[in-house]
Amino acid sequence: VYDKKMKNSEMTLKVFIFLLGTSLFLGCLPGCFHDQRTITQISSFSTLASGGYDGRIPLEKLLSYGNFGLGTFHGLDGEMIVLDGHVYQVRSDGRVQKPSIETTTTPFASVIHFHKEYDKDLPLDATLEQIKAATESMIPNLDDFCAVKVSGQFKYLKTRSVPIQTKPFPPLEEVLKTQSIFEFRNVEGTMVGFRSPVGAGSIVPAAFHFHFISEDRSFGGHVLEFVAKTAKLEIQRVDQFNLFMPIQKSQAK
Ligand SMILES: [Zn+2]
Repeated sequence: VYDKKMKNSEMTLKVFIFLLGTSLFLGCLPGCFHDQRTITQISSFSTLASGGYDGRIPLEKLLSYGNFGLGTFHGLDGEMIVLDGHVYQVRSDGRVQKPSIETTTTPFASVIHFHKEYDKDLPLDATLEQIKAATESMIPNLDDFCAVKVSGQFKYLKTRSVPIQTKPFPPLEEVLKTQSIFEFRNVEGTMVGFRSPVGAGSIVPAAFHFHFISEDRSFGGHVLEFVAKTAKLEIQRVDQFNLFMPIQKSQAK
């Protein structure tokens, strides 16, 4: 009798867990675990590179898909950093501002609900090589996407930003000839980014792509080079990639 009772209560618990799991999986609310491993990207890298700088969705909508990531703004107006649910805009004059999330739109951005799954203290003076190796030791399959956060002290950092464009939009390659370059020494801050499969190059920038924002949120940009001093690496695995290509009003017939 005792045994049977145990089995019944065990069964009830198992059914409960199964139902809980199923309801979370099927009716996934924003912010639930399943959702947290999803990268949502607006537009493709090849579309951006060929001059697709028209804003497609407001930042407010973008933030509903993630609190961590990177991108740019309507007209290619600077570099975007999304960190802890805040959007920072590093413009080509180096100024950082927090744009209105209701009225500002993005033509290209990738975000995720960041949830650290692995972390590691990087060796002293780590460069991209050490970050590559450390990420690979945690996520060995180079065809897997992952979200990567590097925070701490940086000995050297070289970033860039791009000036706002007017129509007809020139391709990214042309715009990069007029980019602004910034160099910083002995600064504190966070690099937000992703490691993407090299084979996905027309959808996403291949391999590592980082944007930086300083601890005091006063400078940053798209990372070109860096040497960390003492920094921590945090990684999140990704099991889903949503690519949104919203139809723009100008294209609709
Ligand atoms: Zn970038």
